[in-house]
Amino acid sequence: MEINLVNISKSFGDKEVIHPTTFKIDDGSFTTLLGPSGCGKTTLLRMIAGLETPDDGEIWIDDCCYFSKEKKVNLPPEKRNLAFVFQDFALWPHMRVFENVAFGLRATGDTDNLKSRVIDALKTVKLDDFLDRYPHELSGGQQQRVAFARTIVIKPGCILFDEPLSALDALLREQMRHELKDMTSSLDITSVFVTHDQTEAMSMSDKIAVLNGGYVEQYDKPEVIYHSPKSEFVARFVGKSNWIDENRLFRPTDATKTKIDGGLSYELTVQSVQYLGDTYELTLLFGDKTWTFNSDKKYSPGEKLKIFVDPKNIIFVEN
Ligand code: ATP
Repeated sequence: MEINLVNISKSFGDKEVIHPTTFKIDDGSFTTLLGPSGCGKTTLLRMIAGLETPDDGEIWIDDCCYFSKEKKVNLPPEKRNLAFVFQDFALWPHMRVFENVAFGLRATGDTDNLKSRVIDALKTVKLDDFLDRYPHELSGGQQQRVAFARTIVIKPGCILFDEPLSALDALLREQMRHELKDMTSSLDITSVFVTHDQTEAMSMSDKIAVLNGGYVEQYDKPEVIYHSPKSEFVARFVGKSNWIDENRLFRPTDATKTKIDGGLSYELTVQSVQYLGDTYELTLLFGDKTWTFNSDKKYSPGEKLKIFVDPKNIIFVEN
């Protein structure tokens, strides 16, 4: 299912929280809305779902107009063929796993082959041995998988995820990232995922829309966002950045201690050292700025260090 947002905007009171926004989400892709708290991610997602009405613009899903201010079209959420996965899983605590997953099918009277469809959905999330458990008898990751099974059983064209992993601990979160991405890819479902976590966005997405104060500052593949950020905000929000001046930066991963012919060289003083297990993360002083550099060798604060950067890895950002 391809989603086209055309000039949609939204205000609450006199505050415009989504400025006129246009972009296309490709069929079968995993797209992330990434940005800091309050930038409008959830509002954008809720407008796609039909839970919030845009003030202007149009929303098209494939060839069907879901919303148009001008044409006075506004399809209700239940007619949009979309499913929502929330941060808090929103499982029914008094229902067993099977009934939680069957709930949506029963609610719409779509009960043909109900048992096998529910079991198939639970097989997809590897929980078909847990049919009789109650949500409180499951781990956080298992609850999240039930929430996911509940959405895929209704075979939606698109799943909207609102920070679905944020209630999980760091390890489980990482594992669920892979699982969610694998499951949505194998089912070929268009996914729109909201997060403020750039690692999550980078590792899962085909494309990322970086939002800042209600504007989409950049919409592109994760690699392009990382290596060619269009604005200072995007450069700072996605990945670490070492700023040479107001317009030029490089990524710490593009610096090396090995001399590069024709490379830029910088002699720097170590300010602090953080041990990260596989590497030491050094904070280096560059004039009044601080840079980050990952080293396999331990340094002490005050020590000098020379690093080299290939000029082709210098990123130019217009202010
Ligand atoms: P977070 O990551 O904290 O959930 P977000 O990027 O998802 O943030 P939104 O929830 O979309 O941001 O909110 C964007 C702005 O709109 C915020 O300033 C918020 O306070 C405001 N807002 C959201 N919903 C409403 C509402 N129903 N009434 C008034 N203001 C709202």
